[in-house]
Amino acid sequence: MPGFATSAIHEGNAIDRETGAIRRPITMANSYALPYDPSDINWSSAEGSIYTRNGGANQRYLQEKLCAIEGAEDCVVLASGVAALGGVFFAFLGHGDHAVVSDSTYIAAYRLLHELLPQKYGVMTTLVDSTNPGEVSAAVRPNTKLIHIETPANPTLKVSDISAIAEIAHGSGALLSVDNTFASPYNQLPTSLGADLCVESLTKYINGHGDAMGGAVLGRKDLIDKIRAEAMVNLGGAISPFNAWLIMRGAVTLPLRMRQHNESALEIAKFLNSHEAVRFVAYPGLESDRGHAVAKKQMTRGFGGVMAFGLDAGHDAHNSFVSRLEVITSAVSLGHDESLIVFLGENDERQHLYPEEFRRGFFRLSVGLEDTEDIIEDIRRALA
Ligand SMILES: *Cc1c(COP(=O)(O)O)cnc(C)c1O
Repeated sequence: MPGFATSAIHEGNAIDRETGAIRRPITMANSYALPYDPSDINWSSAEGSIYTRNGGANQRYLQEKLCAIEGAEDCVVLASGVAALGGVFFAFLGHGDHAVVSDSTYIAAYRLLHELLPQKYGVMTTLVDSTNPGEVSAAVRPNTKLIHIETPANPTLKVSDISAIAEIAHGSGALLSVDNTFASPYNQLPTSLGADLCVESLTKYINGHGDAMGGAVLGRKDLIDKIRAEAMVNLGGAISPFNAWLIMRGAVTLPLRMRQHNESALEIAKFLNSHEAVRFVAYPGLESDRGHAVAKKQMTRGFGGVMAFGLDAGHDAHNSFVSRLEVITSAVSLGHDESLIVFLGENDERQHLYPEEFRRGFFRLSVGLEDTEDIIEDIRRALA
């Protein structure tokens, strides 16, 4: 089997039969030619080529590449990471079903599982601290259909043990979905650790250039087929062919970029940890981090480029620190080539779910690909 970098470059690409070009083209068409007698076509099918919302050429090329780099049987690519999360929840949770959900997840996962699906469709949800597998196990009920975790989690960087939670899920007949966005497949492969479904926001590391949104779910073919049919064709979360092409292009350099993100972030986390103005740093690569032991076991190549930290100062000092940064940009998102920082203040509605040190406000920093010394110098200057 070829290595990660070889797959990232070659899989999903082929020589274009019409032109001989060694890169597959972008196919922007909405529709594909029908056969002589189309009368028995299933218009809701995601098989074959009918209409781009049912699946298009560039979407399929990207799915091939992602399957290869994640070692998964099947993949569906959608318009955003949230479309991928929504696709999983919509496909596998119905009226009267129960989900066990990590108390630290991307905000839209919380909104969908904790508010929208319960209010609109009678889904029941229990939030748990999934860093403790015992809490997950205790929350499982006979009607639990899905356990959803995120590791490392956004925005607290909490680490959950994928294989321990997979065992709990499978012992109770539930599916385990893992949001792998912070780690990226270069650092962590949830399906190889027992997860049934792996969700990636392609918007982040996999595209890596901050210029296209997309999402993916990977796993067994029967599970992915259900998401494709229900969430892509009928909810309409199809990705644009142009974005699929851009993400395919970005994914080629994922291993190189992740190596730099991993290395630079570890150095910056150590720098922050030793700075007297810094109150706390959460980064699973630090040996002192609560999640380090589990992260070390399941993140095989590194700990990613995202960390959280807080200053030993009040609300305004946090904003004023950000205003003095010149290399790092104040903006949401992560996994881009440029470093990004966001101040998440004391009024976050989920604050009561965060570890104690986060409740006085904190930053989420996504370390980019700039020279490590330039990022450190930027922070040092702004802290002075
Ligand atoms: C950004 C993000 C998402 C959502 O992805 P979009 O592409 O923005 O819809 C989901 N999960 C995590 C962990 C994220 O960071």
